[in-house]
Amino acid sequence: MSHIFPRHTKQLPPVAARGEGCYLYDTSGKQYLDASGGAAVSCLGHGDKTIIEAVKAQLDTLAYAHTGFFTSEPAETLADLLIAHAPGDLDRVYLVSGGSEAMEAALKLARQYFVEKGEPKRGRLIARKQSYHGNTMGALSAGGNEWRRAQFGPLLIDMSHIDPCYEYRLKRDDESLEEYGVRAANLLEEELLRVGPENVMAFAAEPVVGATAGALTAAPGYFKRIREICDQYGILLILDEVMCGMGRTGSLFACEQDGVTPDILCIAKGLGAGYQPIGAMLCSRKIYETIENGSGFFQHGHTYLGHPTAAAAGVAVVSAILGRNLIPRVKTQGAKLMAALEAEFGQHPNVGDIRGRGLFQGVELVADRETKAPFDPARKIAGRIKTAAFEAGLICYPMSGTIDGQSGDHVLLAPPFIISDDQIDELVQKLSGAIETALRA
Ligand code: PLP
Repeated sequence: MSHIFPRHTKQLPPVAARGEGCYLYDTSGKQYLDASGGAAVSCLGHGDKTIIEAVKAQLDTLAYAHTGFFTSEPAETLADLLIAHAPGDLDRVYLVSGGSEAMEAALKLARQYFVEKGEPKRGRLIARKQSYHGNTMGALSAGGNEWRRAQFGPLLIDMSHIDPCYEYRLKRDDESLEEYGVRAANLLEEELLRVGPENVMAFAAEPVVGATAGALTAAPGYFKRIREICDQYGILLILDEVMCGMGRTGSLFACEQDGVTPDILCIAKGLGAGYQPIGAMLCSRKIYETIENGSGFFQHGHTYLGHPTAAAAGVAVVSAILGRNLIPRVKTQGAKLMAALEAEFGQHPNVGDIRGRGLFQGVELVADRETKAPFDPARKIAGRIKTAAFEAGLICYPMSGTIDGQSGDHVLLAPPFIISDDQIDELVQKLSGAIETALRA
């Protein structure tokens, strides 16, 4: 009998035995095409010898040193590497163990920044409906995904959730995409004026929404207008690239494509590519200097901050993404995946939208393509797709989400950057079979 506390106590998973390239194998020898990289983690695929060797070499040299006493060479190198490629005046890197920790650090840093600036009233966070920023209580409070929040209210911090930028559901027919982008961003200003900008510390959003919305990209101009509003009212912009960062959308940082630099940027998942648990919070010089010239101490910390072995994996992963020219490959393979999804599902009566950027794509399912009506949640379409796909040897990331009860079911795809043309075909065929099985049930 297992003593593991599994995610689903009534659905015990198979035992994963090994990984190679885009495939995972369980102990019975069954092969799975990892079309979501777990949860947008395994950007380099499985069994990458260069990364494994880098981790082993670091373990041989220095496995761990506490940041209360030391910094380390891999942590310094990783910070230099990230800042060398980060946009704007992002200047400092705080290394943590994953995405939720990165968001917690972001929220606490935003709060401390305003306390040290002498604006202690600024405590409120504005984020978006249907968002996910992590599962620890602070990050969970920031997120707007009702399913994840439901059992834990009242949550921790003063929060507002505005509508996301969601072209498929919320753009009106009488406006251009650009006009919609500005209108969607202006919801932030409306909310700021409603709650009083002097009470707000930050706005948080994912540049491309992953798990909770199936690769929802922002309309052109949306984030530029968001940036303007943040600057006008003196609030910080926190971008959560835990899922969409590290090359996944076709640029090292997703926000580069939206032409904005946040004050705080969170990354994780693809940073360690699954070889080590690691995340990071990057912040601007302005924020760092406020702490440096104030208390000189960020009142935060975890035991595994700046973990040397995790940082060594991060250095090897970022070097591989850049050195192997994988970002152009994300764009070409992403275009092929999009074309294959369009060919397979473009006319499908239950596929309402196919969207995304790079190798971060989503398919939204609907009961009625004309009215965009979602499936009755009781049909559990997303869950059924996940099960049918897994049985067929495909790992993908179906989810159901709600925005005012409307959005229904979607499937997120985030395969390794090394995915081949044949594997794209295999992915789409297996996904198609899984969707048909789920629709028949
Ligand atoms: N932020 C986003 C956008 C995520 O997708 C996730 C995880 O899926 C997190 C934060 C939390 O990251 P982690 O699960 O590493 O704590």
